[in-house]
Amino acid sequence: MHPLDPLLQNNLQWSEKIRHDDPDFFPTLSRQQAPTYLWIGCSDSRVPANEICGLLPGEVFVHRNVANIVVHSDLNCLSVMQYAIDVLKIGHVIICGHYGCGGVRASLGNQKFGLIDNWLRHVQDVITKHRPHLECIADDDGRVNRLCELNVIDQTINAAQTTIVQAAWERGQKLSLHGWVYGLQDGLVRQLGIDISSAEELRAAMATQWEERGPSLYQPGESDSKK
Ligand code: ZN
Repeated sequence: MHPLDPLLQNNLQWSEKIRHDDPDFFPTLSRQQAPTYLWIGCSDSRVPANEICGLLPGEVFVHRNVANIVVHSDLNCLSVMQYAIDVLKIGHVIICGHYGCGGVRASLGNQKFGLIDNWLRHVQDVITKHRPHLECIADDDGRVNRLCELNVIDQTINAAQTTIVQAAWERGQKLSLHGWVYGLQDGLVRQLGIDISSAEELRAAMATQWEERGPSLYQPGESDSKK
């Protein structure tokens, strides 16, 4: 048996089940997509946008990269945002990190992984910004998980600062950005309290000392995989 055979078999069963439940599902979806949400999340295989939020195909537009980073020179992420906001007119951008993120953990350590170390420089910028706060956290897991939260907050602000979001607000388009973090241990999303719907709210978010808004939403005793 080919290693990909189970995937194709699963696909057949999935397609048949959906068509059985709703014969018009695929024909309707094939004519147009009108998702309400844009998800910017980590590439980690354990954090799939649709499954976590119980959304069907067609309901969420997705961009994923290692450590859910939004940088202003990343044409891939910016193109996804531009299409989602300008063309699909999505109303909500969710930036979702997760506790125990391998990319965030690697950014805190000295181990070298190759090309990806350049990408993770962006998380190290977040570390530099919040270093005194992070150094006060004694245990390694606690520090990683707090950085997972602070990274989401900074990336949400980065997303709000893009010309795409700024232009949408200027023309009066309703658009909100939300920072979430997902727990591998319990499958639950935590809202980080950063929700930005206007230039004024962005200014307020930038002026907020987020590290003082703690403690971390991560529950003591939870222990996510260190992968
Ligand atoms: Zn991750």
